[in-house]
Order: sequence, then C-alpha cells, then structure tokens
Amino acid sequence: MTTLSVASNQSPTGLDIHAIRQDFPILAQQVNGKPLVYLDNGASAQKPVAVLDAMERYYREMHSNVHRGAHTLGDRATVAFEGARETVRAFLNAASTRQIIWTRGTTEAINLVANGLAPRLRAGDEILVSRMEHHANIVPWQMLAERTGAKVVPFGITPEGELDLESFDQLLGERTRILAVTHVSNALGTVNPIRELVAKAKAAGVITVVDGAQAVPHYQPDVQALDCDFYAFSSHKLFGPTGIGVLYGKEDLLNEMPPWQGGGEMIERVSFERTTWNVLPYKFEAGTPAIAEAVGLGAAIDYLSSLDRPALEAAEADLLTRANQLVETVPGMSVIGTARNKVPVISFKIEGLHPSDIGTLLDQQGIAIRTGHHCAMPLMDFYGVPGTARASFAFYNTQDEVDQLFTALQKIQRLFA
Ligand code: PMP
Repeated sequence: MTTLSVASNQSPTGLDIHAIRQDFPILAQQVNGKPLVYLDNGASAQKPVAVLDAMERYYREMHSNVHRGAHTLGDRATVAFEGARETVRAFLNAASTRQIIWTRGTTEAINLVANGLAPRLRAGDEILVSRMEHHANIVPWQMLAERTGAKVVPFGITPEGELDLESFDQLLGERTRILAVTHVSNALGTVNPIRELVAKAKAAGVITVVDGAQAVPHYQPDVQALDCDFYAFSSHKLFGPTGIGVLYGKEDLLNEMPPWQGGGEMIERVSFERTTWNVLPYKFEAGTPAIAEAVGLGAAIDYLSSLDRPALEAAEADLLTRANQLVETVPGMSVIGTARNKVPVISFKIEGLHPSDIGTLLDQQGIAIRTGHHCAMPLMDFYGVPGTARASFAFYNTQDEVDQLFTALQKIQRLFA
C-alpha cells in the first residue's frame, strides 16, 4: 500500500484553518465514531456562528413583518432585511438593489426568469444550454419550450469536462434567443469562461442567464464585469441558511417581465377592475419573504468578507492539488472532469465499486461525500456512467482531511473492489 505523508492543519498559504474551523461548530463532532470529515460542500455548505447568531438575534430582538411601517419592530425588521439586500448588491457589484430579487434559491430564480421571458419567445426560437448543466438549468427551459414552441439546444463539452467552444459557436445562431449556462459545474468543478460566452451571446442579441450556484462559494462574481443579463445563486451553498437565494437581473428586462406569482407585496394597487404591479424588486416578491434567512445570508457574506478571500482561494487550490496528487495511490481510481480551471471538486469512480457503496463505506469512516447523478443526468450520459462519487471541498477543509479521504479510499479499494 502506498503511504501518505502527514499533512498539517496549517494551510500552506499561511491561513489558520484551525481558527476558521472554530467558526463552524458543526464540524467538531464525531460521526459513526470518527471525527466528521465534511466533503459535501457542493450540495450544501456549513454555517459559521456569525450566521447562526445573526438569525437568532433577528428573532430575539427584531422580528416582525417587513415593509408595513406600523411600529418599531416592523421598522427594525425592514432595516435588517433591506440591509441584507444591500449586502448582496455589493457582493455582486450590482448597480442597484432594485436588481436583487429574493427567491427560494437558484432553482426558483431560474424558473422565475424562464417564466418572465415567455412573452418574448416564439415557436422555433432556441434556448442554448450546455451539456454540463444542473437539472435546475435544463428543466425550466424545457417547460418554457413546451409552452412556447421553442426548442432547447444543448452545446457540447470536451472529454476533459470543459465547454466545447466550437460547438457553442456553431449552435449560437439566428434562432437563439437565450443562453443559459453554469458558471461552475457542480458535478465536475469546471470553471467556465462566462465572460467570453456572454460577450459572444450579447453580440448575437441573445439574453444570458448564468447559474452561479457553485461559483459564489469560491469566487466573488462581478455582474457588471460579466455583463450577463441574469445571475442566480443559493444562500445555502454560500455558508448561509437554506430557503433563500438571489436573482440578479438587468433592470430593463426585469421591468419588462411579467410577475410570476401574485399576492401581497408585489402590487401597487388592487381593484377588481385593474391591478397594478409594485416597483422592482418587489414586483417579483409576492407574500411574506424569508426575512431571517435574508439576514442570515447577509451575515454569511459579511463573514466571508472578513476573511482573506485570495488566501482562501489559494488554500482551496492546494486542497485540489493534493487530492489530484493522491488519486494514483488508489488502484483503479479515475477522475471525471479534469478541466484546467477547476474549483476544489473531484468526481471519481473506482473500478469494481459502485459509487453509492463508496459513499456508504466512507460514511462509516465519518467522511461525507455525495454519490449519484448530481442532478446532471445528461452529463452522466455523456460520460456513460450512472453516477459518480464526488468530494467537494470548502476553505475550512484541511490537507489532513484530504489525506483521510484517500487513506479511506485505499482501504475500501483493497477490501471491496
Ligand atoms: N445549479 C447548480 C450548478 C447547482 O449545483 C445546484 C444545487 N445542487 C442548483 C443549481 C440548484 O440549487 P438549489 O437546489 O439551491 O435551488
């Protein structure tokens, strides 16, 4: 058996990962009698104390419904809620908070856009998506296509798991109306050249929708520099609470789009003769919003801003490098998705082992990874696999945890493959 050199808790970048881990109490526990090694961050990331405290403080000290203006608690809640919107605006470098719409997550954000763009589409129009999309960036477009007679057209990827730009150029055509593409692939970790794709699409008069769900935990996107029309992400992958996400949109398009849910908050005036819509962003926020969750997301972004983000990125890159180096220590292991530009994710298979068995056996060692199709069945079809095992790292993971993963994989391979 190949032995692994012991790595320390101190990141080579000088970050004190041990101190950072203290901010995430959930990590300091045993699972199945072993210290938890949480490598399922792509599915959902853990929450720092700053987020837990902000949400508790909100409920203890200021909860009331927002935007009613009737009393002091209502004002406090509104200030906290709208303050979080401003935090998200600054995080994305959007020009205005009118462009920041709260949703339940990336899925709802993309459904909102797909619904809103329906009036623009005619039979025969095309919606271009990549073959590496999450189902959340495929199915809403298929539903829109069904409604309008438009067609969803997938463009290709290379065997390494990068977007095939030749295929993109060929398929971006006269009939293309929308380009929907992921910034970072959840199943492969590939970072896509979004700026280049958006520039080409815009030159062709095509509306661009970027799924940022897997990008924001690793990079801070600048929506003005990307120049995309829409950008969506989920709070729970960005170390914030579940139940809330964000849709950023260009104001002219948001103004043009019809609301997609009706009810309180989203109206200006209601009568049986004629109802008119509220201004942005409220036009798209029917009903009582997820107030505490917005506050929690704001706290998550503030927490991230308090850290040295370039150092975090460097530490993550080191985790990926170490994982890649160790792949050859596990006989029969191969990585699916070897793009040049990746976030710290490795999707893999091991000859003679089913991915779900790998997941179960790792769990017995306290190591949490994800197995299956990762909501990207067309991508799995491309690779001819039913699913993969995926370890996805966050900045609070240590080099030592990477080593533990590979020691466990070596053992599993030896005993069961
Ligand atoms: N897109 C990508 C790339 C994702 O990884 C995910 C979550 N796995 C989603 C969209 C959907 O996010 P949510 O379930 O938070 O709506």
